[in-house]
Amino acid sequence: MKIIDQIYINGQFVKPLGTEELELINPANKQVIGRVVLGNAQDTRLAIAAAKAAFKTYSKTTVKQRTDMLQRLHDALMNKFDQLTQATIEEYGAPVSVATMLTKLAADAFLHTKEVAEEYEFTRIAGKAKVHMEPLGVVGAITPWNANSTHIANKLAPALAAGCTVVLKPSELSAIQTQLFAECIHEAGIPAGVINIVNGRGEVVGEEMTHNPDIAVMAFTGSTRVGKMIAMGAAEQLKRVTLELGGKSPNVILDDADFTKAIPLAVSAGFINSGQACLAGTRLIVPESRLEEVKRLIKTAIDAVKVGNLSDKTSLIGPMVNQKQFDTVQRYIRQAIEAGAELVAGGEGSPEGLEGGYFVKPTVFANVTNDMAIAREEVFGPVLVILTYKTEEEAVEIANDTSYGLQAFVSSGSLERANRVAEQIVAGRISVNGLHDEPKAPFGGFKQSGIGREHGIFGIEEYLEPKAIIGHDALLV
Ligand code: NAD
Repeated sequence: MKIIDQIYINGQFVKPLGTEELELINPANKQVIGRVVLGNAQDTRLAIAAAKAAFKTYSKTTVKQRTDMLQRLHDALMNKFDQLTQATIEEYGAPVSVATMLTKLAADAFLHTKEVAEEYEFTRIAGKAKVHMEPLGVVGAITPWNANSTHIANKLAPALAAGCTVVLKPSELSAIQTQLFAECIHEAGIPAGVINIVNGRGEVVGEEMTHNPDIAVMAFTGSTRVGKMIAMGAAEQLKRVTLELGGKSPNVILDDADFTKAIPLAVSAGFINSGQACLAGTRLIVPESRLEEVKRLIKTAIDAVKVGNLSDKTSLIGPMVNQKQFDTVQRYIRQAIEAGAELVAGGEGSPEGLEGGYFVKPTVFANVTNDMAIAREEVFGPVLVILTYKTEEEAVEIANDTSYGLQAFVSSGSLERANRVAEQIVAGRISVNGLHDEPKAPFGGFKQSGIGREHGIFGIEEYLEPKAIIGHDALLV
């Protein structure tokens, strides 16, 4: 039983003034594994004050001092690699292969950002002006539960590289993972006040951050609903806002693709992180004439998907994070069936033998049209829909007929065709013939998937504002 009764303010672990307690539950067996004491608005104000005071000196540090800190944060995370991974398995329910990948992504984020910062021109010339890219101030970072360490690292690394200080509010469901991350920050010797962490509810700690005038940037990852509330609140003081929100990503399989490879890949793309992934390719768009073949291949691919046993390196799907998420996924499955969708695999309930956790059956629907809720709304679970097209133009039209635009996938036997289709899709990232990642490429969405970008130069620039000095090279004559 882990008791998380401290938050991290001004370089110290302190008891929060807030007294509300929340149980932490292992989603694989519904056992209580810990308790977190939540911070309140006053705790948040203390954290913001510490970050504001630290900004005065931190914003003046050299790039070398900051990149050294990024290296130390990477090293500290690597030192706690196994503990962080284990906590991700127990508290979030990720299978071991996924948890390992998430910890590695978190540690690597600091290294990739370090490399980019070392090359970045913080001062440059624009015509006759000297332009300084200046850190904006205190960042209010809010992150979700589905990849706790990775999301935290993706906010901290660019903010620190830019010279900003941070108040972080992670998901209240991830307190054990966050505690380990906070210990890494402490062990990395990050100066007091540069990073502050307050566990707490969104409507308490998050609200205070959104409205507090001493925060200059709100950097949010989470649902589109909450993202809009933050954007509206932040507008009062014209805070910079970055929003990494939801998705309903299309996966277009062109008729010349090798279906025996593209379909198993589509199952992996759809079920990334147990389907609890904003970038999951949950709308599979296939040629109408090949539907029966697709259904056959999908069934075979799903039969090979291992659900449960999180310590098995070959397990792909873990439980949903909590009862609420389990109920949401069940409701979507039920509604799709009622709306006339055809169940190709899975369905309501838990897989046999896994009823003791929040496990859902990997589910695939056919006979779906793109106006149905199951095709339009983010389920955030292992649920795919198959949509059909007659022509390449129609495939692109269906892919883009969504309020989201975070990620897309395209498969084709011809690179020229695949790239032609990829160029026409409105999404922040498009992965051609595979599940590719490029940590220095921008990550973020069009439309309701968000505002702004993470990763690489694009990520660092979200925390900078240009200042031009004109006449810097001439005396009055
Ligand atoms: P959520 O929006 O409910 O919560 C995210 C965070 O916001 C949590 O820390 C929560 O406490 C906080 N929050 C809640 N209400 C708030 C408020 N009024 N003010 C300020 N903060 C508040 O989302 P979730 O259920 O934790 O996560 C799942 C969602 O996140 C999905 O929609 C998913 O697509 C999205 N997501 C997006 C990305 C991305 O990079 N685009 C990555 C992962 C998850």
